Amino acid sequence: MSFEYDPNGNLANLIYEQEAKGQGDSRRPHLGCSQVGRECAREVWYGFRWAGQVVWEGRMLRLFDRGQREEEVLVKALRSIGCEVWEEDSNGKQFRVEFGDGHLSGSVDGVARGVPGAPKTPHLLEFKTHNDRSYKDLLKKGVAESKPQHMVQMQMYMCGLKLKRALYVAVNKNDDSIYTERIEYDPALAKEHISRGLDIIASERPPPGISTRPDWYKCKFCNFKGQCHSGVPLSMNCRTCENVEVKFGGEWECKLSGDKLSLEEQKKGCKEWKSV
Ligand code: SF4
Ligand code: SF4
Repeated sequence: MSFEYDPNGNLANLIYEQEAKGQGDSRRPHLGCSQVGRECAREVWYGFRWAGQVVWEGRMLRLFDRGQREEEVLVKALRSIGCEVWEEDSNGKQFRVEFGDGHLSGSVDGVARGVPGAPKTPHLLEFKTHNDRSYKDLLKKGVAESKPQHMVQMQMYMCGLKLKRALYVAVNKNDDSIYTERIEYDPALAKEHISRGLDIIASERPPPGISTRPDWYKCKFCNFKGQCHSGVPLSMNCRTCENVEVKFGGEWECKLSGDKLSLEEQKKGCKEWKSV
């Protein structure tokens, strides 16, 4: 028997390239609750305003896909131990929450009842996959300290769905072990971050960032470090334009024409574009 090694990972690279080619537009219409707990408000603002199109490597896209696939597996696992799990609301749609002016929202993984420890209490479900290092940190510190962004996301969801408990289910991608934590609703934390999200949405200019130093270690991992620290121009679209106004009801309006802008129009911009 002989082996044909692929030491340069050529075949894998072909798959990554194919994944990368198939990626959709990463610009979301709304600000997601999953983003609000990020440490840097400026980074959240850049994302909401489509300051740059984030293009992911194929391997990263595979990782995101893996996270999605895990949801189904975990729902099945919870049902296997006797939990009732709902992935959709009474209208047959994924549970969603929305705050304020319609620009801040999020989609919920599910709701469960029969959770050991409090079987009668409905729990918000939040599923996350982790690499080994992140998982071990979670085990040591718990969600609030290790993953504050996830904690904020769950608090906002509980607020929106009027739930008092959440069940956080984490999977270690290294060995498939599972960590769970039941989380209590903290109305003050939820409201503080709903306000933070709405402030970021309402801000006409990029809010202050966590550092003015491009070599700050957290900035090195930011998708918008070029725009923030190195003078890379903001992408041309209506959301980065001086003339746009964020309107009630999740809408955007051009101050020059007075027109409401569809998503496609926002993405295109026009020749009157002037960077904020
Ligand atoms: S580069 Fe740093 S300061 Fe600028 S947006 Fe990103 S995280 Fe914030
Ligand atoms: S339509 Fe043109 S001027 Fe109006 S907000 Fe969009 S890019 Fe700016």
